[in-house]
Amino acid sequence: MHHKVVIIGSGPAGLTAALYAARANLEPLVIRGLQPGGLIATTSEVENYPGFPEGIGGFELAEAMEKQAARFGTQYLDSMVTKVDVDQRPFVIHTDGGQTVTADAIIVSTGASPRKLGVPGEAELANRGVSYCATCDGFFFRGKKVVVVGGGNSALDEGLFLTRYVDELVIVHRRDTLRADPVLQERAFNNPKVRFIWNSTVVAINGKDKVESVTLRNLKTGEMSELPTDGVFPYIGHVPNTELFRGILELDEGGYIVTDGRTRTNIPGIFAAGDVTDHIYRQAVTAAGDGCRAAMEATWYLAEQEHARAKATATASA
Ligand code: NAP
Repeated sequence: MHHKVVIIGSGPAGLTAALYAARANLEPLVIRGLQPGGLIATTSEVENYPGFPEGIGGFELAEAMEKQAARFGTQYLDSMVTKVDVDQRPFVIHTDGGQTVTADAIIVSTGASPRKLGVPGEAELANRGVSYCATCDGFFFRGKKVVVVGGGNSALDEGLFLTRYVDELVIVHRRDTLRADPVLQERAFNNPKVRFIWNSTVVAINGKDKVESVTLRNLKTGEMSELPTDGVFPYIGHVPNTELFRGILELDEGGYIVTDGRTRTNIPGIFAAGDVTDHIYRQAVTAAGDGCRAAMEATWYLAEQEHARAKATATASA
């Protein structure tokens, strides 16, 4: 199986890259991975993607993007990539289904996953009070009480966003000083809806059908306590899905793929787009924009390769 462009990952970055690559007649293949549609497909309601005045379900949005890219010739493969061989051209991609796919260019859009607390109740109550996206789900906590875990910029930024809706926001942080920027700290300290619980960590999320409380442990005293809450937003960092590319592509210290500002990685012909390169914005719309740029870069790259080949053939036969 050979494709001019293979896109690894099917979130907004990958599907937008597919749309643009397909419209450039590059007949792209999208290898969808474990989570078709990416993280956005797991979000109940998306109200900040332009063009949908009433909002749209995350799954519906991903599905629409997929159909739109398919309309122009995108093909899909439901497999996980297990290995990418970049030492040969075309590149060789191996999947867990035993397929081998070759590609002249690759767009990596494998996304990032929120770092999990790893405590009892977290997985069981996901989307039933446990959320990793305040921007997406904050609205559903209008008039409620929620807990944010973490002390970095995301915890404070997203927490402050939540105060538009919630009656009380409790920020649980494992130390007694915050990592977040001073300006965010000041805003949080001055917000009457925000309360901090220091030197503490969430050791369990409790509830039958939805979140009802969290169990906290004070890391200094060891004391355990129970805090009633309607929601839990862990903001303890993200983990980019780049294991596959460790030792192949240049990664930054957080494990994100380093690009040159034009989605190009350190290997010519391999481009990266969306959350796998982005530790700041992490929005569907920014990922989609990135996917568009990666497809355009791949198109130009392939045209240049074609041109160089034609020139070499002409020189050889002259
Ligand atoms: P982060 O800066 O790495 O902060 C993660 C926070 O979670 C830290 O306070 C950390 O505690 C805590 N934490 C980590 N593991 C934990 C665990 N297992 N249990 C409990 N707490 C844990 O991550 P982030 O806030 O997502 O930010 C990532 C990047 O995006 C940063 O570069 C940030 O500046 C940027 N960002 C910027 C903005 C903005 O400028 N407005 C907004 C969002 C994000 P410790 O402090 O004790 O390590």
